[in-house]
Amino acid sequence: MKHFDSKKFRQHFPLVCGNPRLNTQVKGLSPLVYLDNGATTQKPACVIACYQYFYQNINANVHRASHSLSTKATIAFEQTRDTVRAFINAKSNKEIVWTKGTTESINLIASSLGKKILNVGDEIILAVSEHHANIVPWQLIAEQTRAVIKVLSLDATGKADLTEFDKLLNNKTKIVCCAHISNVLGKINPISEIIQKTKSVGAITIIDGAQSIAHFSVDVQTLDCDFYVFSAHKMYGPTGVGVLYGKEALLDVMPPYQAGGEMIKTVSLKEQTTFNSLPFKFEAGTPNIAGVIAFAEAVNFINQYNTIEITEYEQQLTQYCYQALSKIARVKFIVEKMPDIPVIAFTVKGHHNHDIATSLDSYGVAVRSGHHCAMPLMEYLNISGCLRVSMAPYNTFVEIDYFIKCLMKIIQQENDSSIEVVSNNVSIENGLTSTEIINQFSNIKSWDSRHREIMLLGKQLERLDKNLRNEQSLIIGCESLAWVIATKNAQGVFYFQSDSDAKIIRGLLVIVLAAFNGKTALQIKSFDINTYFESLGLMQHLSPSRGNGVLAIVDKIKKITRV
Ligand code: PMP
Repeated sequence: MKHFDSKKFRQHFPLVCGNPRLNTQVKGLSPLVYLDNGATTQKPACVIACYQYFYQNINANVHRASHSLSTKATIAFEQTRDTVRAFINAKSNKEIVWTKGTTESINLIASSLGKKILNVGDEIILAVSEHHANIVPWQLIAEQTRAVIKVLSLDATGKADLTEFDKLLNNKTKIVCCAHISNVLGKINPISEIIQKTKSVGAITIIDGAQSIAHFSVDVQTLDCDFYVFSAHKMYGPTGVGVLYGKEALLDVMPPYQAGGEMIKTVSLKEQTTFNSLPFKFEAGTPNIAGVIAFAEAVNFINQYNTIEITEYEQQLTQYCYQALSKIARVKFIVEKMPDIPVIAFTVKGHHNHDIATSLDSYGVAVRSGHHCAMPLMEYLNISGCLRVSMAPYNTFVEIDYFIKCLMKIIQQENDSSIEVVSNNVSIENGLTSTEIINQFSNIKSWDSRHREIMLLGKQLERLDKNLRNEQSLIIGCESLAWVIATKNAQGVFYFQSDSDAKIIRGLLVIVLAAFNGKTALQIKSFDINTYFESLGLMQHLSPSRGNGVLAIVDKIKKITRV
């Protein structure tokens, strides 16, 4: 077993280290500081190389052909199944089903098992902190079977509340779904207790291990859960590969999820089709062969290290980051006290989480902002969203220092400049035109400067009266709250007033309104917004959610001015 040395460990990850293109320059300016590992981890060179090796040397379909190349591919594919079985200490390879990821694993269970065992009035318990992937599949199946979802609340430390669980659990409970660790809260849920208690009423446990699997070893036999699901991409493996661990006895009686090649034993147009044995019954069609084989590289990579040493390093990083953040007066943690894994969620008083995240991005720091696919949790916490820093063992203390320095600079700059906001207001008729915006942007080359320019533009936007920020003016599809209202003069010319709770969106609103203000409905309809955005070099820098937000603004304007 290798001794864990963070510097040496980092060397294995070309995207964060050693790749000059990405190591030195992100968006032309800053070093990449990747603190979004909860979303997906970076990949070690061995995983990346495995793809090339596979396609150059053993590419063939698995299980079906009688030629040696296919045999080679099948052996490597099935060896990964065994590697993963050993990794989580499952009893048998029959209990390891390949899926696309955690999401598909849960959909498979909900669809197959849910339909089989749920009846009217049966109950499914899930924690309020679950990822949408562990909520929506159950909502769909509950609707079809008329089962009922019961929501488990959290205790003061941010963990699934065992006292509340006792109150919810009864003999109508058929399924209990709980994340090992929430992707926002970073606290280890008391799943052993939940599993044992669930057994006492004969219900089934499904543990979402998406966030835990990269941080400590998991033994499904010791846990004694019925299902444990996770994604390869969150543990240095490729995207598009997921694991569904299920107890053989349960998988055996579950009907197939998808149908097609490979999942059958016999197909007849005269008699009933019979299904393949486990785990193939659940693996219809050609799987992600290269991905699965590369996943073995990721598992073997992790297996080389002493996990206790890695965990210790992660805890040191977490503590360092947590303490540095706690010294910033405006930072409010989502859960008090240190998280159990390197996932820290917080808000910054007086600042929208998207503004902080986009500003950090302009310094090359990648963090996540928004609802984190946990909207019920956001509602429970009474927040619209938050920031999340999630670290991996290749992150360094120097990176944390840089992140904290950038964050403090952003908060300071925003505070200083917020004084100017009121005096900078410009009435709508005197707002900038699209040509002026294009001219303004034409000399700005880097995203960092563009970002600053958008934030400055945001200050010109006259704030919308609170009464006008309502359901009618709300722009649906924008991740932040944003509103737009239109007035039309006697000549049929439109003027718009708009606002958002995020500064970045206010800046983007100025840009969008510059294109549409003072135009008739026909002119608005025929304005080529894509060419306009292209000339500003905007869309390629905005994240898809922010980009969709801009398009949602355009859609709303087109809708309210439609002739
Ligand atoms: N559950 C949790 C707790 C997660 O963090 C995630 C990913 N953010 C998922 C489920 C879904 O994983 P995937 O997108 O890989 O299917």
